Amino acid sequence: MELKNCVECGRSFASKQGEKLCKRCMEKKIDEDFKIVREYLYSHPGADIKDVSEATGVDEKIIFKLLREERLEVVEEENNLLRCKSCGKSIRSGRLCEACKKLEFAKELKLAGEDLKRDMDKKIGYYSRD
Ligand SMILES: [Zn+2]
Ligand SMILES: [Zn+2]
Repeated sequence: MELKNCVECGRSFASKQGEKLCKRCMEKKIDEDFKIVREYLYSHPGADIKDVSEATGVDEKIIFKLLREERLEVVEEENNLLRCKSCGKSIRSGRLCEACKKLEFAKELKLAGEDLKRDMDKKIGYYSRD
């Protein structure tokens, strides 16, 4: 980590990965990029991430970031922008498709349930006095 001066506003800030903009200017830039990309996606719903990046000049990484954060949503159900991390189906936003999200949730729920049961078993003496 090193101290740098923001190329936009000149304030000094801690640059973790060689960023040239401070957090505030970075967020402002991402907001602007977000608007540009969103507008492009509305008029070109079938575009893939490369097209979007080339047409808008917004870095592919930023577009991915916006999609992952669910700030952007692809209009088309079938698109080439995002794929489910788990099954590879095309998705509109986030990391997983609806089906995998449900599976993931069920898995977490099951784990949580098992934890709870183990806890209950440990405390069974306490609970049975009730
Ligand atoms: Zn700045
Ligand atoms: Zn999936």
